[in-house]
Amino acid sequence: MIRKLLVANRGEIACRIMRTCKRLGIRTVAVYSDADHGALHVETADEAVRIGPAEAAQSYLSLDAIIDAAKRSGADAIHPGYGFLSERAALPLACEANGIIWVGPSPNAIRQMGSKIESKRLAERAGVASVPGYHGVMQDDESLITAAREIGFPVLIKASAGGGGRGMRRVHSEPELPEALASARAEAKAGFGDPSLLLEKLILRPRHIEVQLAGDQHGNLVHLFERECSIQRNYQKVVEEAPAPNLSPWIRAALFEAALKLGKAIHYDSLGTVEFILDGDSADAGTGGPWFLEMNTRLQVEHPVTEAITGLDLVEWQIRIAEGNALPLRQSDIAAHGSAIEVRLNAEDPAHGYRPRTGKVVLFDEPTGKGIRVDTGVRPGSTVTPHYDSMLAKVIGRAPDRAAAIERLSAALDELTLLGVGSNKEFLRDIISHPRFRTGELTTSFIPEVFPDGWQEPRDSAPVDIAAVLVWAGRQPPPKGPGPWGSLGGFRMFSADANRGRIALAVERDGETSRVELSDSQGGFQIRRDGAVVNAEAALASSRLVLSVDGTRSHYIWVAEGERIWIAHEGRSAEFSVRPWIETAGGGAGGAAAGGGNRVTASMPGQISAIRVEVGQTVTAGEIVAVLEAMKLLYSLPASASGKVVGVFASAGDNVAAGAALVEIEPEG
Ligand code: ADP
Ligand code: ADP
Ligand code: MG
Repeated sequence: MIRKLLVANRGEIACRIMRTCKRLGIRTVAVYSDADHGALHVETADEAVRIGPAEAAQSYLSLDAIIDAAKRSGADAIHPGYGFLSERAALPLACEANGIIWVGPSPNAIRQMGSKIESKRLAERAGVASVPGYHGVMQDDESLITAAREIGFPVLIKASAGGGGRGMRRVHSEPELPEALASARAEAKAGFGDPSLLLEKLILRPRHIEVQLAGDQHGNLVHLFERECSIQRNYQKVVEEAPAPNLSPWIRAALFEAALKLGKAIHYDSLGTVEFILDGDSADAGTGGPWFLEMNTRLQVEHPVTEAITGLDLVEWQIRIAEGNALPLRQSDIAAHGSAIEVRLNAEDPAHGYRPRTGKVVLFDEPTGKGIRVDTGVRPGSTVTPHYDSMLAKVIGRAPDRAAAIERLSAALDELTLLGVGSNKEFLRDIISHPRFRTGELTTSFIPEVFPDGWQEPRDSAPVDIAAVLVWAGRQPPPKGPGPWGSLGGFRMFSADANRGRIALAVERDGETSRVELSDSQGGFQIRRDGAVVNAEAALASSRLVLSVDGTRSHYIWVAEGERIWIAHEGRSAEFSVRPWIETAGGGAGGAAAGGGNRVTASMPGQISAIRVEVGQTVTAGEIVAVLEAMKLLYSLPASASGKVVGVFASAGDNVAAGAALVEIEPEG
């Protein structure tokens, strides 16, 4: 029996695991890095142990720190969640050595499945077909080039130890291959500590479908149906659902059979997922898979959709299995009902290259509709830092059928209000409301095909900038004398000295500043912006604003901190910075982008993964001089000009702030 469980993770998954523990009467121990002091998962736990600085390598990825925390807190079990140490065989081995129960599969299964090469050879022996490709031990260029020729281009290079969508490269023709192999090898070595590569035929219209397995230590093994995870970006899942739409019964049966075959072959004794790929065009004809892709020997991000259709708690299963219990149900007792869809709410900017976003969550209002589940790691006051991945929450919609599940999930996304940190919420809503999503025609190229020019932020459906200006006004000290400012609730307008009741404001949004003039007029406000004048009436209360602009009335939610003001309208949010307009020589007001000259600067806060140049070296404009890692993504930073490198101000491993100078170039001539 597990009495006290340490969750070696953070964010939504740590909170989710603790929820089940609470229900089962198991005490919980959270671990946290300095960046997570005061995080939701720390508050959710019965106890918490600090394990190190913000850098994951020295905290959540530190085996010693985790084992030490378990011993100090007297935890008798460790649950790893996903990511971090969840797929390192060393953790269960260390647990065993210290008499701690490991909530996960045997170290052997983790090791075998952690190598994409070894797992594919094992699958082959078990009679499970993999994507056509090369999974050999010979790793020299010649062997790999010969193999690629036999597979036929295009091919996909993968790091055998890779994961999380990283370390993959598409190669369309033979001449590109040597260079791609060299860089893939270097990246695999640096990123995963193992340079081994495998090659796969690049499937052009792939569907990603995976099967949830559960095994115990008594030799029982069942599947818990499939999940469709074809909506991806950059090889990472964005939307997942169960059951997979438009799936031929024979393919579904083949998937279950293959997954069980593989699980049996490795005597799988925990919760795990076997991932498959199939070709959307030819699978039905029997020539397009399903093919085995890899196995994840852990709880998966998207496990809630399986819970939704089966009514089971997969974390409870994991815990009971780890305690040595037999599976609670036989295959014939497990049934699926209805349809469930999950979206991953990330702190990122889908309209600008999915740039990660950081900051403080100032408002997080969860949807509460029927059939809606929200798994979150944040709440108001949480800080989103660049140290970990960008997922904030998952929203899951469940209904008797797929169309209704989509409806519920769309409504839930409209209802969810997140202020303080930008997210991909609107993007997710656009995906699930797209007609092609509704028909269930899903492949991993859905996003590039549906948004060929990238996703664009929709236009404002209400004057949110005016709302921001009136919130600003309402927060100023009360004026002397009468005026419309009393309508701004308990707050009042400033008293402008020279021009009483008139002020020019600098309103900044997404880095662009505009000038807005605000004055009182006939019991309301007059606002002049972009050369046009509108009339507004406002009623302001704490966090709410009702605004009529030229007779059209809308409701807003707002939060303000200093000069920053966040406005939500019908579920969409915008961030402003509002301050009095100060004329400068250039006619602009504050905030102008500093002309960085020929310096390459960090485009966002993050960690330097590589500096590719040295002082004295010549570079050409556009050449990659540095690589920045932020929220598990890599950003290549190009030289701003051709010339000579005259300064290098950072090195690999450094944490840098946004705007930090990294490399200085003296332009030629
Ligand atoms: P799932 O397969 O459960 O959907 P993902 O592939 O999206 O999961 O990965 C889940 C989490 O685990 C992500 O935070 C991802 O960054 C992390 N992750 C997965 N594999 C690795 C790995 N080999 N190294 C580092 N992080 C990984
Ligand atoms: P990871 O360990 O990073 O999750 P996977 O092997 O599971 O790596 O692949 C991740 C994603 O990359 C898949 O879900 C799929 O979208 C895409 N992918 C993988 N292999 C292929 C392939 N051979 N052809 C086309 N796409 C692929
Ligand atoms: Mg995968």
